[in-house]
Amino acid sequence: MPRDIPIRYIKGVGPQKARVFEKLGIENVSDLFYYLPRRYEDRSRIVDIKDLKPGEMQAVIGNVLSANIFTARTGTCILEVAVGDDSHRVFAVWYNQPYMKKLFTAGQKVMLYGKVELERRFQITHPTFEILEGEDKKGSLDIGRIVPVYPLTENLSQKYMRKTVHRAIGSHLRELQDCLPTRVRARRKLVDSRFAVENIHFPHSFDNLERAYKRLVFEEFFILQVVMALRRKSFKTKGVKHAAGQGFLDDLEKLFDFKLTREQKKCIKEIERDMSDEKPMYRLLQGDVGSGKTAVAMYAMLLSAKNGYQAVIMVPTEILARQHYVTISKTFMPLGLNIRLLVSGMDRKAAEKVKSELASGEADIVVGTHSLIQEGVDLANLGLVVIDEQHKFGVAQRKTLRGKGAAPDTLVMTATPIPRSLALTVYGDMDISFLKEKPEGRESVITYWVGEGRREKVYEFIRGEVKEGRQAFIVYPRIKDTASSDLLSAETMYEHLSKDVFGDLRLALVHGRMKVEEKDRVMSDFRRGKYDILVATTVIEVGVDIPNVTVMLIEHAERYGLAQLHQLRGRIGRGGHASYCILLGEAKTGSSRERLSTLAETEDGFEIAEKDLDIRGPGEFLGTRQSGLPELRFGNIARDYAIMEEARGEAFGVVSGDPGLKDPHNAGIRASITERFRGKLKI
Ligand code: ADP
Ligand code: MG
Repeated sequence: MPRDIPIRYIKGVGPQKARVFEKLGIENVSDLFYYLPRRYEDRSRIVDIKDLKPGEMQAVIGNVLSANIFTARTGTCILEVAVGDDSHRVFAVWYNQPYMKKLFTAGQKVMLYGKVELERRFQITHPTFEILEGEDKKGSLDIGRIVPVYPLTENLSQKYMRKTVHRAIGSHLRELQDCLPTRVRARRKLVDSRFAVENIHFPHSFDNLERAYKRLVFEEFFILQVVMALRRKSFKTKGVKHAAGQGFLDDLEKLFDFKLTREQKKCIKEIERDMSDEKPMYRLLQGDVGSGKTAVAMYAMLLSAKNGYQAVIMVPTEILARQHYVTISKTFMPLGLNIRLLVSGMDRKAAEKVKSELASGEADIVVGTHSLIQEGVDLANLGLVVIDEQHKFGVAQRKTLRGKGAAPDTLVMTATPIPRSLALTVYGDMDISFLKEKPEGRESVITYWVGEGRREKVYEFIRGEVKEGRQAFIVYPRIKDTASSDLLSAETMYEHLSKDVFGDLRLALVHGRMKVEEKDRVMSDFRRGKYDILVATTVIEVGVDIPNVTVMLIEHAERYGLAQLHQLRGRIGRGGHASYCILLGEAKTGSSRERLSTLAETEDGFEIAEKDLDIRGPGEFLGTRQSGLPELRFGNIARDYAIMEEARGEAFGVVSGDPGLKDPHNAGIRASITERFRGKLKI
């Protein structure tokens, strides 16, 4: 098998070169087969010098006539190599690279490739070139064809690389096994792996190249999705079966003072379908801030409670826990369910009481923070686990919570939408519901991005809103000033704003280093209208919902990522009043400019996520901490999204028919998993 053949077995590769290959991650022949060219040059058409067209990328062949160095008046050193055929000539020109002169001697046959310029004469500046030592254009790897250009490192030339790849293909391609089941290949009209490898390196046409590429991308996604499907298969198969009673949904709607949106109902249906199955639900609910995920989760909780099970919802902050607790208690009041709160800020006796009610089964629904996953918290019959703002929790924490029951249904929610293609890669072992549209009547948030020069105007604007009876958030990236940076901080600005700017208004300060009780007191006082302006750090980012707030000023906006800014902004625009988000910041880099203007342009979280993915790339986008993102050689998650969907469908189909991958037709898949991910992906 190509993967068993070390690269040094290829003719022309000694131990020294083998070490260089290793730097590129190429250890064996299979690695080389799957080493993707960075781009291709169309040298299939060698043009006669007299037929060169200015402005086009073209290849010509001729003999070196002369190589001369000039110094321009500006001091620039110019190397000019004249290349001619029978009757015409073209000049290759290099600036400030005099040492290249020694590469050329008169009479050599040379190929030049590059953008043709015409200024009194044909010229190609800094062309790709190759000295053709006695080669004619037939059978050459470097001319007369579409030529691969590889990403290389020192001590490897394109020519050498091509020769090596070509040799490897010549001697070992026929040993390459196709890892895709024939049926899948036929259904998806994919070329076989030998064709793909040959044509990804030495395509006979751009059409073939495309087919080769598609096949390799498909293969990569397919293997990845098989891993996802296998993981999914390894989950428990027997869990809680919730009976979805007729009319549950209508009952729930009567409890709300709004009508559920079509999207909310769609997600509810998906959840209901999972929950009424014996197999445990493992579903991600992705919805933008303010899209109404809580209401969807409440349906799931209701379903569980009505079936005599307990439901828990875990959230990352105490503020949010209390907010959910209030919402859920109020809404479910007529049902007579026992709803409890468990957070670390409670006094011990109250907490003990809640714990005993959880253990006895008396409590039907519990809202809590990390407190829920402590030892000593036991649930009598857990049916449903909801995790809100899931990205704030680690995998282990989620698992611990699930472990409080036998195999509860699990719903995780995130308000940091990620593009579907990426979701399928990272959360591929879950089912995903997308909550796209927002409830009607939601005023949109008008976003301005302004510079320091407008500060006074911004303050005036805030004052105006307060005069109308509204409230404002002002957000800073830091709690305190530090010697090492000149960022404004919440504490200092709170002092300054209270004294010098809004002396006549009521201001409060909240940040993450305050005592929990203190923080909660300030937040609830603010909610009750005791203050006009809340000066804060990003502690208000997660889930906080205060409808009367109509302005959010974010200072040093350039310091935040797109997703975080969008999250922050999502805190306002919830009360049916026109709302304003003001980004105060100086964009010093292109990407911060792009971030801020994207935010000013759109409110659609999914659109913002796509853009964010675009600006930062998948790794950065997800953050390294919890990314779980496999390295991809071929596929581009954002671009090759359609292929990903196809591959996923096929992969899940194969695994459901043959969960152990025992069928000989699927043997190649197993080998491929081990090889591609080299143990980096756990099955
Ligand atoms: P998120 O998805 O960010 O968690 P929430 O669940 O907190 O959003 O909902 C945001 C606000 O929208 C809440 O005040 C909620 O009561 C309200 N809401 C939810 N669904 C609807 C709806 N269908 N119509 C009107 N308002 C709704
Ligand atoms: Mg929420």
